[in-house]
Amino acid sequence: MRCAVAGGLLAALLILACTGFAPAQAGKSVAITFDDLPVANAGEISQERLVPSEIARLNSSTLAALRRHRAPAIGFVVEATVLAMGKPEAKSILAAWTRDGLSLGNHSYSHADTNGLDLAGIEAEIERGEATIRPVMAEAGQKLRFMRFPMNHTGDTPEKRDGIAALLAGRGYELAASTIDNSDYVFEQAYGRALAAGARDDAGKIRAAYLDFTSLQIDYYAGLSRQVLGYEPPQVMLLHLNRINADAIDEILSLFERKNYRFVTLTEAQADPAYRQPVRFVTRFGPMWAYRWARDRNVVVDGRLEQEPPQWVADYPSKQAK
Ligand SMILES: [Zn+2]
Repeated sequence: MRCAVAGGLLAALLILACTGFAPAQAGKSVAITFDDLPVANAGEISQERLVPSEIARLNSSTLAALRRHRAPAIGFVVEATVLAMGKPEAKSILAAWTRDGLSLGNHSYSHADTNGLDLAGIEAEIERGEATIRPVMAEAGQKLRFMRFPMNHTGDTPEKRDGIAALLAGRGYELAASTIDNSDYVFEQAYGRALAAGARDDAGKIRAAYLDFTSLQIDYYAGLSRQVLGYEPPQVMLLHLNRINADAIDEILSLFERKNYRFVTLTEAQADPAYRQPVRFVTRFGPMWAYRWARDRNVVVDGRLEQEPPQWVADYPSKQAK
């Protein structure tokens, strides 16, 4: 391009353009991800939750909010839940995700913990996890690209970490990261109990506490990633397809908008250099990625600064809603 000297703001912009310098971050962004499609199995209410019409309602409420906010989310599917629900019904729900321009990823066949499997077992979980999603993605003209392991367990020994990386590469997958966690399953359990008991006031309080906690966690992980990397990369929000999210996703997306995040695909988020370098840190747990990046970079962080969900929510209904 031709470069000329001009005054004021224009000059500043031209200097930026001519030197090729651009800010590393064009504003804050986040990829919204849902685990455990077609529905998260929430222990005591699992039988009720496997009613196809209820699962369809939770998914369509979630999809409607994603559409309203133009959030290009991805849903990670457990094939065993597809089969438990009934494949034709589950397939039509998953096709609704891809029809909306959203994407699907593999979350294993049976939600098995890789810590208890050898590589052959992990490979079988990946392969059998593709049975429904591969054709659904192909029919939508999309490539099956992302694998997220249950509990984010990505290999509890160096050998397994490397073996998993080789398996994923061999099948054309990229490992899906997670950078913001809001312990939604804790709130989901309390919310489900309140709704089952007809305690609508309590359900409202649990949902309000959930949104407050989500806001705290977004800010916490933004700060943590800046501490570890020196900047805030595109974030990856980890949610589950459950009742509290079906009812609160609209407000969660508004929360991100108020904090000036824009919504991007997981592919766009993980194009950031922070994600391009494989994590070396080995753990049997499933920490968010900033903790892993901290270990790889020898940055000391204090995980005790991260808050827990309110105790009354974890103990509900034995403690009263606040
Ligand atoms: Zn899961």
